[in-house]
Amino acid sequence: MSEDVDILIVGSGPAGSVTARYAAESGASVMVLERRPQVGVPVRCGEFMPSNEEIMNMFPKLKDMESLFTIPDELHCLETVGIDLIDPDDRETMLEFNGYTTDRDRFDQYLASLASEAGAEFSMEHAFYGIKDGKAQTSKGEIGYKVLIGADGPGSRVAQSLGLEHNKNPYPAVTAQVKGDFEPYTQMFFGGIAPGAYGWIIPKDGRANVGVGFSPKFANASLSVYFDKFMDRHGFKAEGKTYGKYVPSEGPIPKTVSGNGMVVGDAAGQVISVNGGGIPLAMIAGRICGQVAAENVRSGASLENYETQWRDIMEQPLRLAAFNKKLADTFAFRSDASTKLCMRILGKRRMGNLIRCKRIFP
Ligand SMILES: Cc1cc2nc3c(=O)[nH]c(=O)nc-3n(C[C@H](O)[C@H](O)[C@H](O)COP(=O)(O)OP(=O)(O)OC[C@H]3O[C@@H](n4cnc5c(N)ncnc54)[C@H](O)[C@@H]3O)c2cc1C
Repeated sequence: MSEDVDILIVGSGPAGSVTARYAAESGASVMVLERRPQVGVPVRCGEFMPSNEEIMNMFPKLKDMESLFTIPDELHCLETVGIDLIDPDDRETMLEFNGYTTDRDRFDQYLASLASEAGAEFSMEHAFYGIKDGKAQTSKGEIGYKVLIGADGPGSRVAQSLGLEHNKNPYPAVTAQVKGDFEPYTQMFFGGIAPGAYGWIIPKDGRANVGVGFSPKFANASLSVYFDKFMDRHGFKAEGKTYGKYVPSEGPIPKTVSGNGMVVGDAAGQVISVNGGGIPLAMIAGRICGQVAAENVRSGASLENYETQWRDIMEQPLRLAAFNKKLADTFAFRSDASTKLCMRILGKRRMGNLIRCKRIFP
């Protein structure tokens, strides 16, 4: 294969598909490379989405959210009304927080279908390897492009090829599906069960997504040991395979544009450090990335507009979340006793602020 496209996007997750949709809608020729055989498969996610009101609360500068976040009803598995934070003594703090759970495979396929309808081409089982002489080197040959976009997840090869900084200290996390009836709220378990992060039960329809993430610097066993312990504690048996992946933990990388390349989503560290949520952020940044890329192709407008625009909406909340995560690492995650003490000192209101990327002090 040797062909040229206006915009070459690596990765068909939410960041890649949303970028592709908006770039194609703006008239550019767009190709998405995906190394997996099927979009969204396997699922490696907790599958929780905040409500549109909660997204606006976190990112008040976001405009025109309806066109981005109107997700069909059939992709809402269960509407959830709260988040229950559970300390190492099983003491609970229930936060009101509206959201819904989805099936990430169908969710990602829906976003990809919008991109296809807009004219983007998806090339599956097609891996990006690097850049040579200004062309992408891939498993199916060389591809020329005007703009290259890395939507290729936390260990982004595109970021590396563009000379951009990579995500530091990503956390491993593993997830599985279990059967059962669950109340319509997410449960997050803190302490030695998931050192430096949390274990979760996220209810779906007659099922739940369950999993564990941890910070390697606080852990003294492998992720599978923590995961098995978590499953045993709740008497869960996984339906099908369990899947793991890394989660960026330190907020956005310093620069997300280099020459004629950009990175978006997990590749750019656009993840809320305190809870690992990244789907809405990948979508917000993806829309900007696609529009800016198409404008660059059409009129030569600078790709730096992407950096400016996404940071205007998301940087401050993401920096606050990263700062709060550092506070938690320093004071809360040292032991079960310090986790309990900090959760009690923070109380419900401040923990609500923490989850929503707001200041916790004063
Ligand atoms: C266990 C776990 C639970 C999570 N739970 C939630 C949650 O409940 N809610 C939430 O909002 N966020 C959650 N997240 C975070 C969320 O999954 C990510 O932030 C989101 O998927 C980011 O989307 P993305 O498009 O940037 O990257 P991804 O979804 O990772 O997509 C990247 C794509 O790029 C492809 N790719 C990678 N390298 C190459 C290459 N060289 N060539 C071709 N293709 C390539 C990959 O196969 C993949 O399809 C969770 C993450 C984990 C790991």
